[in-house]
Amino acid sequence: MVVLKTSRELAAMRDAGRISARALKLAGEAVEPGVSTWEIDRIVRRYIEGQGAVPTFLGYGGFPASACISVNNVVIHGIPRKDQKLRAGDIVSVDVGATYEGFVGDNAWTFPCGDVSSEAKALMDATRESLFEGIWAAQAGNRIGDIGSAVQRYVEARGYSVVRDFVGHGVGAKMHEDPSVPNYGTPGRGVRLLPGMTIAIEPMINAGGHTVRTLPDGWTVVTTDGKLSAHFEHSIAITKDGPVILTLPD
Ligand code: MG
Repeated sequence: MVVLKTSRELAAMRDAGRISARALKLAGEAVEPGVSTWEIDRIVRRYIEGQGAVPTFLGYGGFPASACISVNNVVIHGIPRKDQKLRAGDIVSVDVGATYEGFVGDNAWTFPCGDVSSEAKALMDATRESLFEGIWAAQAGNRIGDIGSAVQRYVEARGYSVVRDFVGHGVGAKMHEDPSVPNYGTPGRGVRLLPGMTIAIEPMINAGGHTVRTLPDGWTVVTTDGKLSAHFEHSIAITKDGPVILTLPD
């Protein structure tokens, strides 16, 4: 069931979104050669808890950390570790959620660690741009398939592939609500977008093939071919005046 939010609820979601966006920004500023993914997770947790909010991911389905940190060929759900030190040339996807006053903000960004290859930079640029293509397609009256097809068209034209096994989602009082928001699709198909809907759009884009697999830890999702993957996400609201990004730092 798709839950429409009142304007008061949207204001609360913007507060939760701001906290998760600021936590993500701090995480990005900490991405440097030699820093462990565990240290970045600590920064995220400390910031969110310092704001009187709760790290949404911590304990979610048993996830052991406050941020998912996914390096290079890891697509999503990477578990932060003390013994995983970032190296120059890595691309580092950080996914952060904060729950505040009963609402969730969910966002992700892929950060370069030091100088990265031109191939890595191009993948990150295309994935970020595809997120904004998807957001732009999220106009009231359009359908879910318009979002996915906008993302898919943008990245496939550049030779990349869209992960199929994981998708975006409605977001609100819970991190995962209806509807599902795939990053692929057919224009004009799927659930119609209505003012008051809040969704997380999150392209997961691979440099190689679209297939992924989950490692034996039950969380870490990697590309089957070992090639790079990038991930960008905003929580947004559908309004009669167009899409509004909820996960902005200010
Ligand atoms: Mg999400």
